[in-house]
Order: sequence, then C-alpha cells, then structure tokens
Amino acid sequence: MSDNKIIIFDTTLRDGEQSPGATLTMKEKLEIAQQLDKLGVDVIEAGFPATSPGDFEAVHLIAEKVRRPIICALAHANPEAVDAAWNAIKGAAHPRLHVFLSSSDIHIAHQLRKDRDEILNLAVAMVARAKGYTEDVEFSPMDTTRSDAAYIYQILKSVIDVGATTVNIADTVGYTTPQEFGELIEGVFKKVPNIGRALVSVHCHNDLGLAVANSLESLRRGVRQVECTINGIGERAGNASLEEIVMALQTRRDFFAFTTNIDTTQIYKTSRLVSRLTGMPVQPNKAIVGANAFRHESGIHQDGVLKERSTYEIMDPRSIGLTGSTLSLGKLSGRHAFRNHLQELGYYLNDEELATAFKAFKELADKKKEVTDRDLEALLGDALRNGIETFHLERVHYSGGHTMPTASVKLVDAQGKTWEDAALGDGPVDAAYQAINRIVGTPNELVEFNINSVTEGKEAVGEAMIRIESEGQVYTGRGADTDIVVASAKAYVNALNRLLGAQKGKGGQSP
Ligand code: MN
Repeated sequence: MSDNKIIIFDTTLRDGEQSPGATLTMKEKLEIAQQLDKLGVDVIEAGFPATSPGDFEAVHLIAEKVRRPIICALAHANPEAVDAAWNAIKGAAHPRLHVFLSSSDIHIAHQLRKDRDEILNLAVAMVARAKGYTEDVEFSPMDTTRSDAAYIYQILKSVIDVGATTVNIADTVGYTTPQEFGELIEGVFKKVPNIGRALVSVHCHNDLGLAVANSLESLRRGVRQVECTINGIGERAGNASLEEIVMALQTRRDFFAFTTNIDTTQIYKTSRLVSRLTGMPVQPNKAIVGANAFRHESGIHQDGVLKERSTYEIMDPRSIGLTGSTLSLGKLSGRHAFRNHLQELGYYLNDEELATAFKAFKELADKKKEVTDRDLEALLGDALRNGIETFHLERVHYSGGHTMPTASVKLVDAQGKTWEDAALGDGPVDAAYQAINRIVGTPNELVEFNINSVTEGKEAVGEAMIRIESEGQVYTGRGADTDIVVASAKAYVNALNRLLGAQKGKGGQSP
C-alpha cells in the first residue's frame, strides 16, 4: 500500500443502520453492500452479528456474495459475540473481525462496572480470541476521546502485541475538536511503541458537526483508515460522511496529497440508494449530495457558471455521477428502452421486478407527459419494495371535501388472500389509515408524516415518507403516487410490513 492511500471503511450497514428508523431488510442490506462494492470502498462493516439473528444472517449473506472488499463484523468484547461475528463472516473472501470495548472511566465505571485492569485484560483476551480465527483483527477502545490518554496507549500497545492489525480511535460521542483530536493521534504515534505494526483508524461522530473535520485532521497526523457512512447517517447526529471526506481529499489534493480507491462517479447513485432504502431523506443543503449542492440561485452566480463553470463551482457535478440529463421516456417507450435506461441509472431488475416497474411506469406516463429520472426513482422504490411485503395495497378509495371523510381499502396478503375494510377519519389519509388498521390490527403510533413532490408540475409524483412507532422501535415507510392519499396509504402499508417483518432483540452499545 502506498503511504498516501487512505483506506475507506464504510459502516453504513452497521452504525448507519443504527440511525433511529433506518431498519433495513436483508435484501436491502445486500443491495447496499453490492453498491458499496461498485463505489470502491475498501472495507464494508456489514453488521453486528451477536445482536440479532437477522443481523447475523445479513452479514453472512454479504460475506458470501460480496467478494472484492474486506467484509468486517463487529463484536462486543465477549467470547460469544466474537464467535458469532466469526461464524457470520468466515465464508468471506477477505474477513475482518472488529472487537470493541469502552476505555473511558465514565463508561468503565457506570456502564461496565469494572476497573481499568479488568478492561485491559478483557481487550487482550478477546483480540487474541479473534486472532485465533483470522489474521485481520481491528480493535476499538470505545469513547477513546474521553479516555485517559496514558491508559489508551497502554491498551493499544497490549492489543497490538497480541495481533490487532488495525486500531481505531473512536470519538463515539462526537465530543472532540480537530486540533485536540490531532494531538491525541500524534500522542498515539509517539507513545505506543509498537504502533508501526498496526494501521491507525478513526471513527468520528457528528454531534458538534465536526466529524468530517476531525477525520481529515487525523489523516494529516498519520491515520490511514477512516470510518464513515453514506449521507453521514448513524447514531444520533450521525457519522462522518463518506462523500464529504472523499470529495474533500479529491478536490483539495493540493492540500492533503492523499488518494482513495473510490470511484467518485458512483457517489450520487449510492447516496440515493441509501436514502431510498433507509427512508432517511438527504437535506437539500447537504454537502456533495444534497439537491441544492450544485444549484445556483443568484443571477451573478448563474451568469458566472454559464460563462465558466469554475467561477462558482469547486467540483464538477459529473465527478459524483450527476449527469444532469433529463429522461425522454414517454408513454410510447417500450420495455427494452425502459430496461436500458434503468441500467444506466444503476438499477438491475429481475424479470418480475421489471414487469411491476414497467406497469407502474406506463400508468404514470399516461398521467404525466414527461417521466423524469426522479419520478422513476420514486416509482422504482415502490416496485422494489414489493418483495418484502406481508400485505400489498391493492386499492384505496376515498371521499372527503364537505362530507365526513371516509376511505375503503383492499389489501392482499402474502398467501394471496384479499382483505377489505372501510373507516371514517379526520381526513382522507386518516380514514385510509384507520381502514388499514382494521385489517392489520397491529398497535402503532404515527410519529412523522411528510409528503414531498418529487418533481415540479401539477401531475407531479408525490412521495410520502412516514415513521410509525411500536414498542419503542421506529419503522419508516415510503410510497409514491400521483395521488397523495394513495401515496400515503402505500407508505403506511410499507411501514407496517417493516414492523411485521422486524426481528426482535436488535440493539446494543457500539462505537
Ligand atoms: Mn459509532
């Protein structure tokens, strides 16, 4: 490895999936892992196998199917978790075990109820156990930035002695600042005598909006692996954003002089995929991938960009895969052209999915003259969600206006059985939700409801994004249609399907 190459460790599927409401199905996790492979990440942290059977199965599947990158599984520092993590990834072409344990006094005393010596011994024992399974072992002292520096040096030396090949400095709670973090990293390089035998990594959270700044500073001080997520999703305020780190390194190579293996033209597509599957919208002003990131509103700026792009653009939108082309598919377009266009957008559908998507496309093209790429994304989201359904929304009929709002719905279950019911409500969406509840019968509370127009114009496709809560767990649902009541009903059924399909026992602390 050349000394200026930065290892990109993606934890979208582990820390990112810990975002409240971002639960993914196994099929969705595999789809994201395959796209991360195309994006060129070096390491995929696929999950946390000890936390639930669903997580174990997803990591196992990704290890089997995604062969180029290193596939990493996270484990608490206990024998069962390390063994479960290994069992999940042992079939990987390049497996990595990642063991973590808290090192700050605040965690040791209040959460683990142990003392420093016990923690040190446990870390050493679990790294040694992991090393018995595989050569590639990473260790994270959780909450590193609030730990005693001398104690950190001692732990790192000890775990490297028993074979840790990567040591990860974690700003678990997003507390540090760039200069302070840089000094901690410098201390690690100076005070850990065997540090030359391990790669030093960082894992930064964004509670103060400093995750990317802290990560970049650490690279200048000798760190060569950065842990990050697509769109910066993750626990609380999220993790360092992959696209921001990669594009900062690329755009400011004059300053940083580092390279990565990332194919930046896959960034936009990956961002959309992760947003669509997790149900976590990207804020419009988000750096790199936000809808406004390459839009110019001021007349002076527009004039400048038209004359010479670099007047107000530091990056070429094409470098992240934004083509700016609008689709010229219409209602006369055939299935072949449709499939070709989808492949250009990065969607490779099987015949059944293609048939569903094509039918939806034809229906939309009847209502709307020009079908844009954004319409297609919304519509494909619907077509691809069908694979995980316990209930499918067949039809919704509603009436509102000056009468008592009422709705009737027809659902079909996985066995093909038809269910119909009707209800009154405060409005047509509420009436549709009540009617669906009468059939599904699972208690839940609607905690968030958003409708966005995907494109401009009065025939625009509306996309509903909702969150429901049941027993403390949040589930996201999305649905798209030119009728917003139908879109809302689709989103509700989608969220209920996730609720019904969710595995129990998910959760746990992690770096
Ligand atoms: Mn984390």
